[in-house]
Amino acid sequence: MTGFDALIVGGGVMGATTALRLAQGGMRVAVIEKRALGTGASGVNAGTLSLQIKRAALVPYAIKGIERWRSTHERLGIDVHYRRTGGLTLAFTAAEAEVLTARMTERKAAGVPLEFVTTARAREIEPGLSANPVLASFCAEDGYASSTLTGRAYREALLKAGVAIHEGAPVTAIERGGGFRVVTPRGTFVGRRLVLAGGAWLAALGRMIGVEFPISVRVNTVSVTTRMPMAIHRIVGHAFGLLTLKQSDNGTMLIGGGWQGRGDPERGAVEVIPDNVIGNLRLALHAVPALASARVVRTWLGLEANVPDAMPLVGPVPGVDDAFVIGCVRGGYTIGPFMGELLADTVLGREPEMPIFDPARFNSLQPQKLSA
Ligand SMILES: Cc1cc2nc3c(=O)[nH]c(=O)nc-3n(C[C@H](O)[C@H](O)[C@H](O)COP(=O)(O)OP(=O)(O)OC[C@H]3O[C@@H](n4cnc5c(N)ncnc54)[C@H](O)[C@@H]3O)c2cc1C
Repeated sequence: MTGFDALIVGGGVMGATTALRLAQGGMRVAVIEKRALGTGASGVNAGTLSLQIKRAALVPYAIKGIERWRSTHERLGIDVHYRRTGGLTLAFTAAEAEVLTARMTERKAAGVPLEFVTTARAREIEPGLSANPVLASFCAEDGYASSTLTGRAYREALLKAGVAIHEGAPVTAIERGGGFRVVTPRGTFVGRRLVLAGGAWLAALGRMIGVEFPISVRVNTVSVTTRMPMAIHRIVGHAFGLLTLKQSDNGTMLIGGGWQGRGDPERGAVEVIPDNVIGNLRLALHAVPALASARVVRTWLGLEANVPDAMPLVGPVPGVDDAFVIGCVRGGYTIGPFMGELLADTVLGREPEMPIFDPARFNSLQPQKLSA
């Protein structure tokens, strides 16, 4: 088969950054996206770029990811409103303080430049905080970007790099044999290599090449308020990861923290769970009293994929020559641009800068268990 050197299925941060690096490496690349670039998790997430809320094993990757976001403008000429604000993570009870201390000690050892601070010091760093925290940690490297700009920004960068973009093209079948034929209602695309970057929809894409990715899906909630006077300048989080809070330059507050809604890959985001939204907002108010006068204008959901060990799924698909997968990265918006580079370097036959996360670690993906 002739055609592209690589077909990327999925135009989120993982697919876009992989495609970009492959094109920069000299490959002819197409991105095939069922809706529009950056309309999956990468376009609806809370935009928090935090080192503090990453598992220790992923900290070195998150440091590289944040470096990529910080330099997006100079490297790619695109703007995602990146802000380095610094971030505070709060504990409100003795039990939470114990967890915060254990987690942050481990993450500090893994390379996060953080310090533990008293409530008084936390309120000096962020005067908008309540007096409720009993302990906090602070990392000056934390910040955020505007996820709603992801698709538009990467579209520009991909086109500049010569990547073909096919949007509104849901992949319905993938045929194998001396390459891949990727079938969509907008045409069939032929390529020598295949990269599956389908986010929460990876399981269905895997089945198209006879592979059962062991994926579960979380349905995360985010809310935004009306514009309000500036109340905080840092990002604010919670010891258990139940809160991410930031105030944009335009005055709106974005409130996340992984509270769950209802939905699944087949039906998409179905409905918010009111008690969970209320729990999320209460926690935000407990941290930042100025929110008492805020009105929430919108609450939405986004779908995020996970594998059982909660580590990324990034590497060759076992048993399927020239097929690769990238996804299931917790905090994947932060780490995504670096993961895309690592996978692209693997596809290009280069030694990746850091180890990738071999899908072959899962029994269900052992080649002998795959159907022909
Ligand atoms: C609500 C929410 C809040 C989050 N908050 C944060 C945060 O603050 N900070 C952080 O670091 N991370 C956060 N995350 C995680 C982060 O957003 C994700 O890890 C990351 O965006 C995943 O990128 P992706 O490219 O793998 O998936 P996606 O962005 O979902 O991209 C996958 C793409 O594949 C396409 N696709 C799927 N099936 C097909 C098909 N059959 N044919 C063609 N295209 C297909 C989809 O349309 C989609 O565009 C959050 C996630 C959610 C859901």
